[in-house]
Amino acid sequence: MHELSLARDIIETVYQNVPKEEVNRVSSVVIKVGTFSGVVTDSLKFSFQAITSGTELEGAELETIEIPFMLKCNDCNKETTNEIGMMLCSDCGSGNTEIISGGELQIVEVKIQEAEEAA
Ligand SMILES: [Zn+2]
Repeated sequence: MHELSLARDIIETVYQNVPKEEVNRVSSVVIKVGTFSGVVTDSLKFSFQAITSGTELEGAELETIEIPFMLKCNDCNKETTNEIGMMLCSDCGSGNTEIISGGELQIVEVKIQEAEEAA
């Protein structure tokens, strides 16, 4: 049910950032999802549709952009990537690393239809 609470967070953010009178004209919400954020995008989209159904946001689509996994090593300062989401620097083998992308979920854009088109 991780995706369900994420969908709620996304919707809450939309409501906070879109003027009230424009919420019913939101056509889509674009989010970036890291490859290793653990988010199942299909499930997230399903949750989003389920929650917005019957609300002003009904019909708005959730578009996802996948972001590849990148690590930054605090020991050798190199940025590396690997395909299994391993938290070890593939250059020096250090575990003193941080995720710089691929672990996040972030709203990048909320698309709003023009009033004329909504009619
Ligand atoms: Zn390193």
